[in-house]
Amino acid sequence: MLIVPGSDALTEPYWEGARQGKLLIQRCRQCAHRWHPPAPICPACQKKDYEWEAMSGRGEVFSFTVVHHAAHRAVAEKVPYLVALVTLDEGPRLVSNILDCPIDAVHIGMRVIVAYQEIAEGIVLPQFVPDR
Ligand SMILES: [Zn+2]
Repeated sequence: MLIVPGSDALTEPYWEGARQGKLLIQRCRQCAHRWHPPAPICPACQKKDYEWEAMSGRGEVFSFTVVHHAAHRAVAEKVPYLVALVTLDEGPRLVSNILDCPIDAVHIGMRVIVAYQEIAEGIVLPQFVPDR
């Protein structure tokens, strides 16, 4: 079983960016705040005036956890797996996977760079790999 993310009018620019190999994040035109996950208004100033901005794709591991108990049968064969909170160099944080890296090699402060993985037809996930 494969669970894939859906998109809607709000999140479609993020997914379309991923299909094009770009990590797009919302940026407020009023106060310059950037945020993720997508929201219809700026969480800092509550204005609706935003644009999508391409990030560098570089950042670092802010925190992580290792999941040992499958909360859903779709991930039963994946445990143990790591879920990381990555702080982009531009500021926003994303919940993501760290690919191409053993779980016990991941550490807080580890430099990472975005990698795009097509998990189903037309569904591309921005995830991260070590920035070596
Ligand atoms: Zn704002």
